[in-house]
Amino acid sequence: MLMTDYLISSKFEDILGQDETKKQLKSALLMNRNVIIVGPPGIGKTTLAKNIAKLLKPIKANNCQYHCDPDNPLCPECKTSKKEIIELAGIKRFIRIQGSPDLTAEDLLGDIDPIKALKFGPLSIEAFTPGKIFKANRGVLFFDELNRCPEKLQNALLQVLEEGKATIGSYDVELPANFIFIGSMNPE
Ligand SMILES: [Zn+2]
Repeated sequence: MLMTDYLISSKFEDILGQDETKKQLKSALLMNRNVIIVGPPGIGKTTLAKNIAKLLKPIKANNCQYHCDPDNPLCPECKTSKKEIIELAGIKRFIRIQGSPDLTAEDLLGDIDPIKALKFGPLSIEAFTPGKIFKANRGVLFFDELNRCPEKLQNALLQVLEEGKATIGSYDVELPANFIFIGSMNPE
C-alpha cells in the first residue's frame, strides 16, 4: 500500500521491537514527533501509548471535553462561556480511536454546520463541531489500526498533523493539532 510506505519512509518512524520501541517513543515524545507503530495485534501497542500519556505532566484545563487551555480555548463552548478550571493528569488526556472502514473525516476532524456557517462565516468557531481527535487535545491520540481507515481519511489526518489544517466538505479549516500522535498499523 503506497500510502503506508509514504507514511513510514518519510514522515513517521517505523518502530520494531519492544525495548527499541519504548526508547524511540520517548525520543519522539521529546522531539514532538508523530509515531507509527507497525506490528501484529497483541504486542502491547495500546499499553505503550498509555505509558506515554502517563509521562505527561499534569495541566490546568477547562472542564470541557477538549481539555481547553483556559488562556487559549479551542472549543465553541469555552469560547463563548467561562468554564471551571481543573487539574488533569496525563492519563486523563489519552484518547484511543479504533481505525475502521466506516470512520469518516467528519467523525474524526469535525463538521461545519452549513446554517451556522452562513450566519457566522465558514471559518468561525461557532459553525464548527470538533471531531474525535480534539478529545486528545494537549494529550495523546492513539490511533489503532490506522491502515483500516479509508485512504481519504488517512490523507485528511496527515494534512492536519503536518499543516494544522484540513479540508472539510468545501471548507478549509485551521485545526491546530495539539497532541502527540501515535498510530498503529497491522502489517497483515
Ligand atoms: Zn473547551
